Amino acid sequence: MERYDHQKIEVKWAKIWEKNKTWKVDLAKAKKPYYNLMMFPYPSAEGLHVGNVYAFVGSDIHGRFARMQGNDVFEPMGFDSFGIHSENFAIKQGTHPKEQTTKNITHFTKQLKQLGSLFDWEHSVTTSEPEYYKWTQWLFLQLYKAGLAHKKEAPVEWCPSCKTVLANEQVIEGKCERCSTEVIQKELEQWFFKITKYADRLLKNLEWIDWSEKTKIAQRNWIGRSEGTTIKFKVVDSKYEVEVFTTRVDTLYGATFIVLAPEHPIVDSLKNVKEVQEYVERAKQKTELDRKAEGKEKTGIFSGLYAINPLSEEKIPVWIADYALIGYGTGALFGDAHDERDVEFARKYSIPLKPTIITGDKEKDEKILKLKECFIGYGTLVNSGSFTGLSSKEAIIKVREWLIKKGRGGGKVTYHLRDWLISRQRYWGPPIPIIYCVKCGTIPVPEKDLPVLLPDVEDFRPTGTGKSPLALVTSFVETTCPECKGPAKRETDVSDTFLDSAWYFFRYPSVEFEDEPFDKIRTKKWLPVDMYIGGHEHAVLHLLYTRFVTMALKDMGHIEFEEPFLKFRAHGLITKEGTKMSKSKGNVVNPDEYFKTHGADTIRTYLMFIGPLAEGGDWSDKGIVGISRFFNRLWNFQENFKVPKQESNELEVARNQTIKKVTEDLEGLRYNTAIAALMEYSNGFLKNPPTKEQFNTLLILLSPFAPHLTEELWGKLGNKGSVHEQPWPTYDAKALEEKIVRLVVQVNGRVRDILEVSPGIKEKEAVALALKQEKIKKWFPTGKPKNIVFVKGKLLNLVSY
Ligand SMILES: [Zn+2]
Ligand SMILES: [Zn+2]
Repeated sequence: MERYDHQKIEVKWAKIWEKNKTWKVDLAKAKKPYYNLMMFPYPSAEGLHVGNVYAFVGSDIHGRFARMQGNDVFEPMGFDSFGIHSENFAIKQGTHPKEQTTKNITHFTKQLKQLGSLFDWEHSVTTSEPEYYKWTQWLFLQLYKAGLAHKKEAPVEWCPSCKTVLANEQVIEGKCERCSTEVIQKELEQWFFKITKYADRLLKNLEWIDWSEKTKIAQRNWIGRSEGTTIKFKVVDSKYEVEVFTTRVDTLYGATFIVLAPEHPIVDSLKNVKEVQEYVERAKQKTELDRKAEGKEKTGIFSGLYAINPLSEEKIPVWIADYALIGYGTGALFGDAHDERDVEFARKYSIPLKPTIITGDKEKDEKILKLKECFIGYGTLVNSGSFTGLSSKEAIIKVREWLIKKGRGGGKVTYHLRDWLISRQRYWGPPIPIIYCVKCGTIPVPEKDLPVLLPDVEDFRPTGTGKSPLALVTSFVETTCPECKGPAKRETDVSDTFLDSAWYFFRYPSVEFEDEPFDKIRTKKWLPVDMYIGGHEHAVLHLLYTRFVTMALKDMGHIEFEEPFLKFRAHGLITKEGTKMSKSKGNVVNPDEYFKTHGADTIRTYLMFIGPLAEGGDWSDKGIVGISRFFNRLWNFQENFKVPKQESNELEVARNQTIKKVTEDLEGLRYNTAIAALMEYSNGFLKNPPTKEQFNTLLILLSPFAPHLTEELWGKLGNKGSVHEQPWPTYDAKALEEKIVRLVVQVNGRVRDILEVSPGIKEKEAVALALKQEKIKKWFPTGKPKNIVFVKGKLLNLVSY
């Protein structure tokens, strides 16, 4: 008997599939195109992480399932190889990112090929290759021409370690998304994409796209639409007005002070005041995280100015404090007794407070009015002039109407979403295709001159001066103005790596088209993507940017759809002993070891077995052994396989049940329970030896999980062709409804056999079945009973004389 040798059969089939181009799809001629996309990896030096394997296998199983259901499945794979992450690693290793990237991609490709996935390697992309980034630059130019890319000076997030600015989305809880260093704010001139112009559309389409709910919620929160009111506070003895945005204008009557962010334009006019200047300088040293943090002591300084509360007409002091942030609202707020931070600040600087909202609960209201409790909820207005007695919700509308009538404010919708900061003061990215001419101003590089090649430089390290290392490369910087042919200078920043990945799925089906980023007909056939599976951590980064880019491309007339991914499913995380895997904890599972010891099929199936795809699960070395045992058992079943004399009805019912269960589970990405059902079905083989069809069904249903093993067993069972070319099995719904009954078979009144049959079995079928049994047959040499008594579903009595 042969032993299950995973190494032998996995190498064997990988070779055959590669040679036969088994997974190749004719992108031009496919009849039922199905675009199955997974998030392409950035090729790290550590190689494939088990988390990558989890995501890719989960997606590949979906692709295989769709393929067996008759779709032409396109499943590409590529490399997100530009960006800070790759560059930081190269710096650490003392290598050049270009060399490092090439090496990493070679390693990654080898590992990816071991997975046994449907990848179409003829349609791969590498974002750091000029033939790809030429089109990333093209995309920048289209956005520029559409008025969606602009350069402006703004306070921006700066990572002191990466020495570059970052987009708001790349600051996670005040820290750099790439290196976890706390970011600081800087005032710099930068390139932005106007994603805010699309805020409402990005929000609205969430109502119909079929995405994981938690990802939609994250996008909704990030876009953060809120309806509110702006109020103009007149500044006493000054030409200035302070505009404040609030969603709680019902508390305006009790506004007893104004707070300006240190970056507020009015503060600039006060810079001659030494104390103010010093305070502003200190505030700018702080990180946004520090400034926003609850519980940290608030600091501030009186500006010397007073403003008029438009409702109470009282003169109220204007303070400068760093808990007001210039990036949010208008960079100014009014302080009152119904906001915890305001109350804390007012207490510290002895600013009076006037409560204006009560709840109707006598005891509670006494505390509120005596300032012993800061009530932040909705209630009823008090001490609010003619608005007293209104509910908060009524007052929000009435006060707004009053302000509009008096010309002191208006209704306003605001968003948390900010424009996408796209420039990076780094080396490893596509140079932004812009030229500056003294005479002609800002000139886009003509499309025929793309790509603007990233020059080879020895010292690629970030400078920290606010300029990219490219600024030091004279041969790159000095150029000719495309308009006047006079001397001009190139933009030296590169674009954010998230721009590379914002459109890669457009390129995959069109890689053979050299003179356009994506072919119109090809794109129409294959996009939008049918299914996208990837990490939820990209909810407000990649997944938001791709939606914006797709909408913009539609508006510019390049495509006809505006949502890139019809279906998106977020996968869970794989942990080890309940904790997140990390190098510092030393608990990283290296898939390479397991490829050797257990094989790709076992890793694939085990990863999918440990939990529903959306939830992930915990890796354990004990668990993987269970899958090995399952596969060995299957192997041995095949080695000992003999066609049984009769088909077991019980197993046939189980077969139908299993098809139903596995089909439904695969549709819902509940791979774990599908595998459990297949194990259970195969356990039935011990009791009732399977027919070839019953065995084949197991192989077909298991093939998306264990493509090599099932292919090998398929052939060994004497089947022709490939298990992967088989149609997905269907089940007989009727067979599921019926349970098995035990039919007692008597000969001449004595029990001779018990048969498992379906309850609906007819007399004729029952007799025929009974006469096939050895124990019965011998009584009827002529093959014909003299008399028959049949009690449906219970008893069959055959009389031989
Ligand atoms: Zn950083
Ligand atoms: Zn010029």
